Amino acid sequence: MSTAVVIGAGASGLASAFFIQKFLPNFSKVIVLESSKRVGGWVNSTRHPDGCIFEHGPRSLRPVGEQGRNTLQLVEELGLAKDILPVFRSDASAKNRYLYVKEQLCPLPNSLSGLFKTLPPFSKPLIKSVALEPIRRRGKGNDESVHSFVQRRLGREMADIAIDAMVRGIFAGDCRKLSAQACFPPLYKMEQDYGSLFAGAIFGSKGPKPELTGLARKAKQEGWASWSLAGGMQELTDSLADAVGNSKGGEVRLGSPCVTLTPSSDGLGKIAVQTDSDKINADLVVSAIYSKDLASLLPGSMGDLRQDLSLLPSVNVVVVNLEYKENVLPVKGFGHLLPSSENKQILGIVYDSCTFPEHNRKGSPESTRITVMMGGAWYKNLLNRDGVLPEGSELVWMAKDAAAKQLGIRSHPIRWQVSLQKECIPQYQLGHVAWVQSLEKKIQESNLPLHLVGASYRGPAVNDCINNARKMVASLAQRS
Ligand SMILES: Cc1cc2nc3c(=O)[nH]c(=O)nc-3n(C[C@H](O)[C@H](O)[C@H](O)COP(=O)(O)OP(=O)(O)OC[C@H]3O[C@@H](n4cnc5c(N)ncnc54)[C@H](O)[C@@H]3O)c2cc1C
Repeated sequence: MSTAVVIGAGASGLASAFFIQKFLPNFSKVIVLESSKRVGGWVNSTRHPDGCIFEHGPRSLRPVGEQGRNTLQLVEELGLAKDILPVFRSDASAKNRYLYVKEQLCPLPNSLSGLFKTLPPFSKPLIKSVALEPIRRRGKGNDESVHSFVQRRLGREMADIAIDAMVRGIFAGDCRKLSAQACFPPLYKMEQDYGSLFAGAIFGSKGPKPELTGLARKAKQEGWASWSLAGGMQELTDSLADAVGNSKGGEVRLGSPCVTLTPSSDGLGKIAVQTDSDKINADLVVSAIYSKDLASLLPGSMGDLRQDLSLLPSVNVVVVNLEYKENVLPVKGFGHLLPSSENKQILGIVYDSCTFPEHNRKGSPESTRITVMMGGAWYKNLLNRDGVLPEGSELVWMAKDAAAKQLGIRSHPIRWQVSLQKECIPQYQLGHVAWVQSLEKKIQESNLPLHLVGASYRGPAVNDCINNARKMVASLAQRS
């Protein structure tokens, strides 16, 4: 009888446990340890009784690519297909994205003709950057910052404005510090393989196409751009936890932190997992927590690995959800982002009610939900003179003020919620890919039955987390 312990009940940990139960039947016990009182980790939806849903973490997932298809398959296996809320490519929230620059809301081009026009905040038509891309020099294959990569391929203005804002939207991070290879592996690979992004997009998409089935096929046929679930994103992690906990030998323990991990000294290749109440002798341990948190669980004898694991920085994000009584949005779209040159404190505003009106309060009039994201790599700019984060009410005031200035919303919200998400998005800095490889090599050499999944390593998007969990289990299944 073998026992697997998964540390952390976020998307990565729950998906790992689910796939272990599915593909590694020799593990008759699968225990998920979660330090907090709830499952989901950063996937966190507040469901109000009147139907209004506030998302404090991820709010939509993309259906495309290996990762997107894998999550859709999981959704089907969990019986959640009926609850899918698709956003179609023709919907305003899929087509319209904005930048807020020089105190102006600027729509990004969403058609070919838009590329030929000079649209603010850009000083020339974007086609000029795109047309020159194939003849720009190829990188030397070293890791470089996202900013440097984009500046080299698409010019300074694209890097300073569009990519700066986009990286703030995805990683809450600074594109001058983050690694192109780690943050955007497909783009990095296109340049490596084909010399240009343009050529990569054309030739890279040739080759055999995966055969689509089920929801992935539906998503392609119907032209989905993204999706959520009727009960919010948390429905996915709640259902995963139910599936794991209700399977024979499966257990999800809440309020049960892993305190230490000690490799067995008898050479049997086990790990003693100490929780705050008992000790489990595990044949397999999957770490699905932030790498720094894993570092603190390892014994002093593993100082080298501890040291390496603690190197990954992450950022704090303040998420302010606001609800207004009526439809107060001046435009329809997904939301807008601000480049760091425009505003250090506010990263962007998501127009949630436009993308998923199904998550609005039931009844009329039609309400508005928006989310103001603040801080990230610029978190220090939110702190007061004493280095302290202002009170929640002041943060709500800042969010309201941003909505008023950037969207002209003058009315008062009827409901709000502030969440400080501490160390929530790992920052893949230069050398990240090599760091992950070296960690995995060290663990392999130590012969420990320890495996790493989660946002710290190979992509922070929920689709990445779930797909990496599946790949980790698949590789174990192949070996067994
Ligand atoms: C504000 C925000 C918006 C986001 N938006 C999107 C989006 O739109 N789309 C998208 O794809 N992604 C988005 N993400 C990223 C994505 O949500 C996360 O990267 C992903 O959910 C991480 O999942 P995880 O399971 O790897 O880690 P986590 O969610 O961090 O889960 C780890 C779990 O481990 C627990 N834990 C920690 N230490 C211990 C211990 N010692 N013992 C036991 N348990 C422990 C924690 O309590 C936590 O529950 C967003 C993230 C944030 C913060």
